[in-house]
Amino acid sequence: MRTGTWSGSAKEGTQLAVRSDTLETDLSEVMGRSYRCIDNCALCCLCQPELLPGEESKFRADPRLRDSVVETHISPEVRGAAIKLRGRHGACHFLSGRRCMIYQDRPHFCRAFPVNIFVGWRIQVNANLSCRGIGLDGESLEDLAKSVLRDYTRRELEQELESARVVFDEFGRNVRRAKVSQSTSSLREAGSVVIEDLADEVGLSRVLAYAEHGRTRQNTSARDIVRLARRSDAASDIEELAIMDGTELFDLEELSLLPIYIDRRLNWNLYKLQGDAIVGYRLSEDGSVEEVSRTDPASVHLMPMTASGSKIFQDYMRTVNARDCFLGHAAHLCDMEGYSYNLAQVYLGALANNALDLWWRASFLASRAESERLDSAEVREGIVFFDMDLLDLPTIGAFI
Ligand code: SF4
Ligand code: SF4
Repeated sequence: MRTGTWSGSAKEGTQLAVRSDTLETDLSEVMGRSYRCIDNCALCCLCQPELLPGEESKFRADPRLRDSVVETHISPEVRGAAIKLRGRHGACHFLSGRRCMIYQDRPHFCRAFPVNIFVGWRIQVNANLSCRGIGLDGESLEDLAKSVLRDYTRRELEQELESARVVFDEFGRNVRRAKVSQSTSSLREAGSVVIEDLADEVGLSRVLAYAEHGRTRQNTSARDIVRLARRSDAASDIEELAIMDGTELFDLEELSLLPIYIDRRLNWNLYKLQGDAIVGYRLSEDGSVEEVSRTDPASVHLMPMTASGSKIFQDYMRTVNARDCFLGHAAHLCDMEGYSYNLAQVYLGALANNALDLWWRASFLASRAESERLDSAEVREGIVFFDMDLLDLPTIGAFI
């Protein structure tokens, strides 16, 4: 595709759809944002780079590059060739001293970071907010997104859209047949109404309890579901729920699947539940790990947010509410549950569960830094820890 004329302007918190010829593309999340790649960060080099078909042949033909190509990606759902990693869970084969040894030849996947292109019923560009370079003075994220889109031919994007639309259409038929359907706009409206509740322990607790136990009748409107959720009894112990959800995150055998957090000093940290403790490891490029901390999960409480912390938290949840991949995630959950819950109930539950995850991660990091409340800086750290995993949630549609 050649992107043609892009036009429009974004207002904060609004969705802006721009059209490139007939391909509807939403750039609102990246508009007005800048980024600068930080020396010695290399967080994105911990994600295994996929190779586009044209890149695979180029890599295979080049004696400097050919030994790096593997047939299969570490994530079974990713198809096609990729660059191998160092060890089972280390950085990309070409990273050395946190520098890319093939910078001029790095594949599309690496040049695109921190921009993610999601293809659902339209194309939407997301910013990976785990990248600490976002918000620093530097390049325009919007320009990067447009240049990443130009790497695809129009036909390639059309084919991706066609495949995704088949899945979305089938989902639409299923929810209508089960009479649990909601429009995209009503889901987003319901999400925006509860966002303030999600930054409050009682409000969040109510939405969580309703999502879990509420029995919404078929055909109930999303607006009514919000009213019911707000009136429901709060979950009995949100702290316990937070600890349970929080520790579940780290309860994985395979180190490469654990959430990774790049701290302010650019250390790569992994946390793993071992027995009764969350063990913190420092990860090196070659995949070796060194234990650096132990935390009792019961000692981590959801910390109160200051006004500025709450604002950042809510702004972030608004971003999530506007993401097509997150709608696709709710659709995936609805499908997994056999269409037995109203889509709005599932959607609000997904928002609330992810708000709790973010709140808990921010509190976990803040408690390790001996803070007692979540100000804007602490919530930002939570987002750095969290966003990459949110963008990785199972969804219908696909990142390309
Ligand atoms: S995560 Fe962001 S700042 Fe870090 S290396 Fe990648 S693009 Fe640069
Ligand atoms: S090719 Fe270079 S930029 Fe891409 S992941 Fe590997 S080291 Fe990082």
